[in-house]
Amino acid sequence: MEQIVSLCKRRGFVFPGSEIYGGMANSWDYGPYGIELKNNIAKSWWKTFVQERDDVVGLDSAIITNPKVWVASGHVANFNDPLVDCKGCKTRHRGDKLLEEKIGVDETAAIPFEEVGKKLNELKIVCPNCGKTDWTDARKFNLLFETQVGVLADTKNIAYLRGETAQGIFINFKNISNTMRKKLPFGVAQVGKAFRNEITPGNFIFRTREFEQMEIEYFIRPPKTENEWREPFEAWMEDIKRFFSDKLGLSDENMRWRRHDENERSFYSKDTFDVEYLFPSLGWGELHGFAYRTDYDLNQHIKHSGADLTYVDDEGNKFVPHCIEPSFGLTRTLLAVLAEAYNEEEVGENDTRIVMKFKPALAPIKVAVFPLLKNKPVLVEKAQEIYKNLKPLFMCEFDDNGNVGKRYRRQDEIGTPFCVTVDFDTIEKDNSVTVRDRDSMEQVRVKVEELEGYLAQKLQ
Ligand code: ATP
Repeated sequence: MEQIVSLCKRRGFVFPGSEIYGGMANSWDYGPYGIELKNNIAKSWWKTFVQERDDVVGLDSAIITNPKVWVASGHVANFNDPLVDCKGCKTRHRGDKLLEEKIGVDETAAIPFEEVGKKLNELKIVCPNCGKTDWTDARKFNLLFETQVGVLADTKNIAYLRGETAQGIFINFKNISNTMRKKLPFGVAQVGKAFRNEITPGNFIFRTREFEQMEIEYFIRPPKTENEWREPFEAWMEDIKRFFSDKLGLSDENMRWRRHDENERSFYSKDTFDVEYLFPSLGWGELHGFAYRTDYDLNQHIKHSGADLTYVDDEGNKFVPHCIEPSFGLTRTLLAVLAEAYNEEEVGENDTRIVMKFKPALAPIKVAVFPLLKNKPVLVEKAQEIYKNLKPLFMCEFDDNGNVGKRYRRQDEIGTPFCVTVDFDTIEKDNSVTVRDRDSMEQVRVKVEELEGYLAQKLQ
C-alpha cells in the first residue's frame, strides 16, 4: 500500500487534502491523473449499466435533502457504529471492526451493541494505539453528517448530507416511473458523493468521510413465489462479476463474494453479499454491497411521506415494487484498480520499472507523443502535428523532457498504453513513427497516416 500511496502523490493521482495548511485528517484530493482514472471508471460503469441496457435509467439527485428522508430510511435511528474509548490513551475506535479482526464478521454480527465493550475486554483485544486492554462500553455514534440550512442555526433547520446515493433514487421513484414510462423490471442508477462521519477512517482512500458511490436500485414485481426474485438477483450477480473482471481488470483470485448470515443481514433483506477485494496490506475489504431489499425502502417512504409510491401494471394491478440493490463504491473501486494495476518488473540487470497495467479504457492518458530529441525543431514540429491530430480523439500527452527512456518510465508509472516517437526516419525516410506498447515494451513502426486507426483498434 505504501508504494501505491507514494506513486499516487508523486505522479498526480491522489494528494493529501488541505496539504499547505498541514492537512485535514483523512481528506484526499484527486489530481490530474486521478480524476481521469475516476471519471473513466464511472464512465465504464455508466456505459455498462445504463447506456448498454434497456432497463436502467440515470439520475442525479441532491446531496442535501429534506431531513425526513433520513428518518424514513432508518439512518437517523440506526446508522450507528459502536464507538468505544480506550481508557489508557483516550483514543476512540469502532468496536465492531476491532472484534471483526479477532473473531470474524459473522461472530461479531451476533454480539449486541451494548456488549461490544465487554467483549473487547473479555477477548483481551488491545488498543491499536497504545497496546492496552481497557475499553469503555460502546456508545452509539451516528454516521450522518449534520448541517444547518439557511441563516438561523436552529434545530429546525438541521439537514443531513446524504449518507448514500440510494435514497435519492427511492424518493424519485414516482417521478421516474411517471416520466420514463418504464415497465417493471427497471432500474435507476446514480453516481455521486456520499458522506459519513466515520469513527476510524483510514487506509488511504479505502474509508473516508467524503467518498463517491455508484448505486443502482433495480425494481421488480413482488415475487409470486418464495424464490422468484432469485432469477434477476443471480443475473445481476453475473453482470457485476463480468464488470469487475472484463471492464476493470480485477482478477478472480483477488475477489470473493461473502454472503451475510442471519446475524449480519438486515431484517428486511432476503439475501445480501459483500463483494470483497484483497487490498494490499489491508487484506479482504468490502468493495461492493449487493442485496435483495424486498419492498422495505419504498414502503418506508410511503409511510413517512404519505406519497403514493405504488406501481400500476398494464392489467391495472397496483403494488409496491421490490428492489435489488447493487451498491458500488467509486473511490474504493479506484483503490482496487490501482492495486491491481501496480506492477514492479525487472527490465534488465539491477533495473526495475513500475508500470500501472490499467485496462486501456481506464488509463488516464491513452497516448503519449515524443520527439526523439527536444532540440531538433524538425522533430518537435512533426511530433506536435501528430499530437494535435490525435488529441481530439484520445486523451494525449506531449513530452519532450529528458531522454526517451526516462519518458517511457514516466508514462509506465501513469499507465499510458502507447508511446509514439518521431525520429529522423519519420522525416527523412518513411513517414512512420515508433509505437511502443506499455505491457510488452515492444516497438513497431506505424505509418503516420495509419496511426489513428492503429491506436483506435488497440485502445478498444
Ligand atoms: P463498510 O462496512 O466498509 O463501512 P458499508 O457496508 O457501510 O461499508 P455500504 O453502506 O454498503 O457500505 O456502501 C456501499 C459501498 O460504498 C461500499 O461497498 C463501499 O465501496 C462504499 N463505501 C462505504 N463507506 C465508505 C467510506 N467511508 N469510504 C469509502 N467508500 C465507502
